[in-house]
Amino acid sequence: GLASRLQQTMQKIRGKGVVNEADVKEMMREVRLALLEADVNFKVVKDFVKRVNERAVGQEVLKSLTPGQQVIKVVQEELTALMGGEQSKIAVSNRPPTVIMMVGLQGAGKTTTTGKLANLLRKKYNRKPLLVAADIYRPAAIKQLETLGKQLNMPVFSLGDQVSPVEIAKQAIAKAKEEHLDYVLIDTAGRLHIDEALMDELQQVKEIAKPDEIFLVVDAMTGQDAVNVADSFHQQLGLTGAVLTKLDGDTRGGAALSIRAVTNTPIKFVGMGEKLDALEPFHPERMASRILGMGDVLTLIEKAQMAVDEDKARELEQKMRSMSFTFEDFLDQLGQVRKLGPLDEILGMLPGANKIKGLKDMKVDEKQIKHVEAIIQSMTKEEKIHPEIISASRKKRIAKGSGRNVQEVNRLLKQFEDMKKMMKQMSGMTAKGKKKGGFK
Ligand code: GDP
Ligand code: MG
Repeated sequence: GLASRLQQTMQKIRGKGVVNEADVKEMMREVRLALLEADVNFKVVKDFVKRVNERAVGQEVLKSLTPGQQVIKVVQEELTALMGGEQSKIAVSNRPPTVIMMVGLQGAGKTTTTGKLANLLRKKYNRKPLLVAADIYRPAAIKQLETLGKQLNMPVFSLGDQVSPVEIAKQAIAKAKEEHLDYVLIDTAGRLHIDEALMDELQQVKEIAKPDEIFLVVDAMTGQDAVNVADSFHQQLGLTGAVLTKLDGDTRGGAALSIRAVTNTPIKFVGMGEKLDALEPFHPERMASRILGMGDVLTLIEKAQMAVDEDKARELEQKMRSMSFTFEDFLDQLGQVRKLGPLDEILGMLPGANKIKGLKDMKVDEKQIKHVEAIIQSMTKEEKIHPEIISASRKKRIAKGSGRNVQEVNRLLKQFEDMKKMMKQMSGMTAKGKKKGGFK
């Protein structure tokens, strides 16, 4: 991954007070590669690298960061900015129903996303959506939406496959008005490729339905292609947002960046699975980390792999994801991790690490690791597994047993809590994120 490649570059420039042009250039070569590997559009990468170069050269290095981390920080900030803030708001028409048109290529996930969106509208905003089956071409497309409607216990509007999508849209909106349903979600047809007949039809539907939102549903796995698709749809229809599906798969998600940069269409949601609740707001910051492949727990494991056997690493990964990570595991890992190098550097690879209070104090030297080990070893088995039971009197006992003081015990407990919280945040991002290959 990028993080490990950058680490090598970082080794060379460690200790410098200021990042010079050559350092940045070298690092940006790696960043450029990472972006291209993540399927970010070539032109977007070029502009991006140029901007970061301007920002990073000559910057004074923050004391808490190594020059390498500083450049990564700039890169991450710029990527995040490029993708805009969180944009998961959905339009509300002041003359209900609010109409949302779902468009995209065949197989992108339109029908599934229509169901997910309806589910979200009801759950989060207490809205009453009507699902509209306007894909009359794909065999069983109507049935698919009806099945979703049944699962959600929501009405589905359909006129079969002999009535035009324009007519279906028109009647569906009338019906929604009549029944005081406040959202109309129109599931339209897709093709394998952009085609004129389809675009004509979608334009006609748009004319009649006057949608408040037109969401492009696009498969994150299609990489570079996603940009061309988004560009065409945007030019023909004027998109108001995009939903990036199948991010639960093995993709870096560079399409998000390209779509945003090329069409200026905000990514509003991401699809994280086939289930109806697997639709999440788009978080630019998380996506930036994902694109760069940094802050990835697997990178950490990758490092750990040099010292521990693969089975153990896998087991740890599982535990981190399932949140069943305990002090016992922590102790075990401390021993392994010590072989890898400075612990603060390893912890620094975790996403959001710089935001965690107390982590700086964890700039552990060998002596401190021994102290931490002593504290953990003084815990009972139950305390290691369920640290929440550690009361004041238990803390005193542990402190005494380890020859440390109660503040140190407190600090460790706090750090462990923070670490678990961080893992929880990460697991959302990386769970199933790279199921193939596992250790790159
Ligand atoms: P449409 O042709 O655009 O309507 O696409 P569908 O909604 O029929 O979806 C095509 C396939 O992609 C189906 O098998 C869906 O279950 C699957 N799919 C859709 N969204 C996601 C997602 O976010 N993650 C995963 N893993 N599969 C998805
Ligand atoms: Mg469909």
